[in-house]
Amino acid sequence: MMILVTGGAGYIGSHVCLELLNAGNEVVVLDNFCTSSKLSILRVQEISGKPVLVEEGDIRDRAMLERLFQLHNVTAVIHLAGLKSIKESHANPLSYYDCNVNGTMQLLIAMGNAGVKKIVFSSSATVYGSPRSLPLSETHALAPINPYGRTKLFVEQILADLSLANPDWRVGILRYFNPVGAHESGLIGEDPIGSPNNLMPYVAQVAVGRRDHLNIWGNNHPTSDGTGVRDYVHVVDIAAGHVSAINYLDHGQSFEVNLGTGNGFSVLDVVRAFESASGKKIPYIFGPRREGDVSSCYADASAAKKLLGWKAHRDLSAMCLDHWRWQKANPDGYSGRAISE
Ligand code: NAD
Ligand code: UDP
Repeated sequence: MMILVTGGAGYIGSHVCLELLNAGNEVVVLDNFCTSSKLSILRVQEISGKPVLVEEGDIRDRAMLERLFQLHNVTAVIHLAGLKSIKESHANPLSYYDCNVNGTMQLLIAMGNAGVKKIVFSSSATVYGSPRSLPLSETHALAPINPYGRTKLFVEQILADLSLANPDWRVGILRYFNPVGAHESGLIGEDPIGSPNNLMPYVAQVAVGRRDHLNIWGNNHPTSDGTGVRDYVHVVDIAAGHVSAINYLDHGQSFEVNLGTGNGFSVLDVVRAFESASGKKIPYIFGPRREGDVSSCYADASAAKKLLGWKAHRDLSAMCLDHWRWQKANPDGYSGRAISE
């Protein structure tokens, strides 16, 4: 199969491309590189020994999309392109609705015109908002509490309407919990722009000496040690979930599932696990809770297992070891080496 991966140069996208290639698919990436590096694609080619076709462009550019579908014999789309910072989405909601919702609309219209009606969409646990019960199952109310989460929910609803109107459309919605880690080669990984908002990349940058200490947002949460609890899931497991989803849509109906491990770990659990993976001390100080943060969030991961036969295999120690291997080899991310490598 020829799979179009939008956002394929990004953190999750690069790992998805690799898993798709390893499973024998051909891959074309559409990316405008607004938050990523072209180097990630070169590294994916290096690891897999297989070519990746690249189209540089914006998902909001319908004419370009129409040309892309004429040029390549795409059988399905994995749609990861989008903006993902909660903080930025509060400051600049229109750019989030434009990129994430309008961009998806342009993609879906171009897909329909080209007769490509199979899509896997990157959604997020953020669509659930503040958990009313844990673990979070797919039947939990959908009530996002920030503009980013609402863009994900709106796209989920657009996709649901589409597959309801025309069963030829097969839609797989993957709600990721907290993707972390990196491919075991240490060649591809997470490379956030500026100061990382998320925990694991921040901890990794402290370990590698780019930052002095970690600020832990709150030590008075109603959790075992007072720090926030999340469901961290290895990015290679997440990537494998996309291959399962695409394969399932060959014969199955539209679906939405969580991609998580079902286990919650606190910030201090992550700090300790990263210290033992890296052999580095992670100094930290406690600060106030972060606005909008939920205390605990973890998945009921049973639906993905039942429907797709997918489950996460890698534990927190593997997540930290792999994240550290990438960070140690690439202290400054992709910008550390020349683009012409
Ligand atoms: P990322 O920023 O590394 O990757 C996003 C990619 O999309 C980048 O390569 C970027 O250049 C590209 N892109 C953005 N806007 C584009 C546009 N208009 N046209 C073309 N390309 C564009 O982020 P990621 O962590 O790999 O996330 C991928 C997807 O997964 C996103 O949709 C994100 O919302 C979703 N997601 C991520 C997480 C997470 O914690 N990383 C959690 C849940 C959901
Ligand atoms: N966190 C923290 N310091 C940081 C970044 C995150 O203490 O610099 C905490 C955060 O409050 C939450 C957990 O780590 O309890 C995971 O945060 P992240 O932003 O990675 O994921 P999200 O909250 O979006 O699920």
